[in-house]
Amino acid sequence: MPSSWDEARKLIDDLLTPKETIHVCVNDCVAFRKDRKDMKRCPVCKEDRYVSGTTRPRKKFHFLPLVPRLRRLYEIKAFSHLLSKHMDSGVANDIVRDIHDSPGWHRQFEQGGLFEGDPRHLLLQFCQDGMNPFDMRKNAYSMSPQLIKIMNLPMTAREKLGFLLLVGLIHGPKEPKNMDPYLEPLVDELLLLLEGVWAFDGLRKEAFKLKAKILLYVLDFVGLCKCAKSKGPGAVSPCSKCWIKGEYSHKLSKMVYTGARRYLEPDDPMRKDTSNFPDKAVEDRGPPRLRTAGEMETLSNLCNPETTAMPKTLLATVQKAAGKTGREEWRRLPTYSHENYVVDMQHTGTDVIEKVHGVMVGDNDTEAVRSEERRLGRFPECWEQNEEDEWEDVEQSNEGTGLSSKKKRMSKEQRKRAADKMKPGPWTLTKDDRKKADSRSAAVKVPVHFGWHPRGIFVRLSNMKSHDWKQLFSHGIMKFCVRGMMKEKQRDTLNLLCDVLSALCAPIVKMSRLPQLEKDIHRCLARLERDFPVTIMTVIVHWMEHIIPYIAEYGPTKAYWMYLYERMNSFISGRVKNRLHPEATVVESCRIYSFVQYMALGGFLPEGAVPTTTAQQMAIVEREEDDEQRPTESKTELSGPEQQIQLTTAQTTQLKDFHIKHTPEYQRLRKQLRAKYLHSPSKSTTSFNKWSSPKLNTEEREAMAGPSAHGMKCLRAVRDHGIEYRCKDAETRAGSVVSSYVAVEGQQMGSQVDVGRVNFFFRHSFLGEEFFLANVTWFPTATRDPASGLLRSDTTRQRATATATSFCTLSYISHPLVTARDPDDPTTLWILNFDNPYTC
Ligand SMILES: [Zn+2]
Ligand SMILES: [Zn+2]
Repeated sequence: MPSSWDEARKLIDDLLTPKETIHVCVNDCVAFRKDRKDMKRCPVCKEDRYVSGTTRPRKKFHFLPLVPRLRRLYEIKAFSHLLSKHMDSGVANDIVRDIHDSPGWHRQFEQGGLFEGDPRHLLLQFCQDGMNPFDMRKNAYSMSPQLIKIMNLPMTAREKLGFLLLVGLIHGPKEPKNMDPYLEPLVDELLLLLEGVWAFDGLRKEAFKLKAKILLYVLDFVGLCKCAKSKGPGAVSPCSKCWIKGEYSHKLSKMVYTGARRYLEPDDPMRKDTSNFPDKAVEDRGPPRLRTAGEMETLSNLCNPETTAMPKTLLATVQKAAGKTGREEWRRLPTYSHENYVVDMQHTGTDVIEKVHGVMVGDNDTEAVRSEERRLGRFPECWEQNEEDEWEDVEQSNEGTGLSSKKKRMSKEQRKRAADKMKPGPWTLTKDDRKKADSRSAAVKVPVHFGWHPRGIFVRLSNMKSHDWKQLFSHGIMKFCVRGMMKEKQRDTLNLLCDVLSALCAPIVKMSRLPQLEKDIHRCLARLERDFPVTIMTVIVHWMEHIIPYIAEYGPTKAYWMYLYERMNSFISGRVKNRLHPEATVVESCRIYSFVQYMALGGFLPEGAVPTTTAQQMAIVEREEDDEQRPTESKTELSGPEQQIQLTTAQTTQLKDFHIKHTPEYQRLRKQLRAKYLHSPSKSTTSFNKWSSPKLNTEEREAMAGPSAHGMKCLRAVRDHGIEYRCKDAETRAGSVVSSYVAVEGQQMGSQVDVGRVNFFFRHSFLGEEFFLANVTWFPTATRDPASGLLRSDTTRQRATATATSFCTLSYISHPLVTARDPDDPTTLWILNFDNPYTC
């Protein structure tokens, strides 16, 4: 055994993921590698490579080569199996559950394509996002991990942090100005991988030429601007997908992108509206033209400062107009296209809802916003008196000097206070509204593992992660909180926005519904432009117009959004153990982590030697293998402490009712026994139950006696892949935010919804089978609130006792619901997310 950490570390050194430390120009111009290996100075900006008088580089970058790791993964039998089984399910007809069933995925493996139909070749996803490993407020430090996700892995494995590959780590404290030197080594490797590299397939026991390519780039808007060299929000045409044109608003000191009506159907009445849209005219144009690959190629050369023949001033103008700042490093890859940048729903969804929320609560509703609306001649009820002239002066004298941005720098609280002094706009939540909305959002009850913890979000907003925003819009919480507030038009638009965003985040895609969803998006954005101040119409809001083609091609957005990478980044932050060398400690930990991972997955470690997380991941790999052999069935289990109970007489009757209805074996035996022993209809059921005969076998005797009142009571249950239920006791505990409500689609009409509350879970055996059941008390059938579209049930009304409580299986009931009782009317139970296919 090694006696120290250093010794142990030396022992495994050769086995760790290889690491390259690459020196980079201090201004991010070039990487000192290949033919620039021995240079002492940057060939572009002439800055010194080393700290003067030493051999210490002024800036460096860690790169962890991809090829050796991909090779190593294929050597593991279990992994080789996981990486190549993705094509088994074929293209889905209408319901797409994962990118593996999507038409875009299968197209990549077509005969005659790069991969020649061999499922062993790999499709990758690239993500880069800046992160701050230290305290966010005190220390502006940003390092950027570059991550690769292997898309071939099954969904469950793909979403585990352990399977993400860290390929590069850009050092802080500042984000790089130019990405090229940091992408160069990766692009070199990807070029090799397009040709194919020899690898050994541990499953088929043969050598083969492994190919890989990046299918999708997943980036937030800032990352996109950097990696795709696009100009970003300041440009006239900043959208990397189309030629939308923005207009500079002097009042707001920023570009706004209106014209959302261009996407509407030609006969849509909103196109004829000449008073409520910012341009006050009929809109008869079609959508802006999409950018073509050829145009992007030309622009990447034209706007490149290194190769262009244009003078500097002209170049800046062209860059601003075309929204392109140069030739991206990726262009060296023949398979690269600007279309491979997906619209990331995490940032898009969060950004849109955050903007609208900000205007509603006053955070983003400034005097400038009002005076811009006044200039456009919209919403006269909220114009401020006397401010016009003052503003005009300030604007004119300070244009471009950045003074107007001082206005923006007021704290949220200050802005909110200032907004409270202004007249309420039709979108405004007044002080009282915000308090009321907060008491509603604090009253929400959510399933376990929901993420967002119910609390006020309108008076003060703190610690909101993007996942929290997603939960708010996709589970009806936003709709519930602002019910009855704002003007009707604005509220309806917000409701539509929540519906659209939640459909875009849905884990399952119904392809035949996409055309309708696309229309809804267009309608929603046009209404946002009509009903809210023009300040919210940023390019990120516009991006939503481009998302449907990606869903049609690659299925649900969860396969290509950033939540996983965000989680990885916080894992990485946690690995910063040395404040002086944060990057070095991260790289070191990740290398050791992936080594342990490899050893564990390869089965090279003795049992019990594996850390828990790795053991769990291994279990997943094994389960995936099992799943292939037997079709997935809905698995139910009870968890948590169990307790022996004896059911009451009423409950025993309910249990018997359940079995009479749902257990075929019991039905059969009862029928048989009745026919055999009960000739006279006058004999009552009671005597039938008590009647016993030595001639009966055990099963028949059990059927005669009916289900026993004894069983195990439990407070929690788990269904399918981790849908967790809690019962009434968990909800009524003080301070609890857990929901114990579930629902079923009503039997008649199909559109009715029955809501109930789980009293307890019950496990018992009957006729040789084990049953996991929930005991549910049902409320009156829920009705739909016409204004918000949410369901509600009047809990004061009682059902007839015979049907009020019953036993049912977990597969019969819905996922646990997000519910709330309105603080102003606690008798009504609101069901916020029943119709939503979205579960946490
Ligand atoms: Zn340089
Ligand atoms: Zn666009």
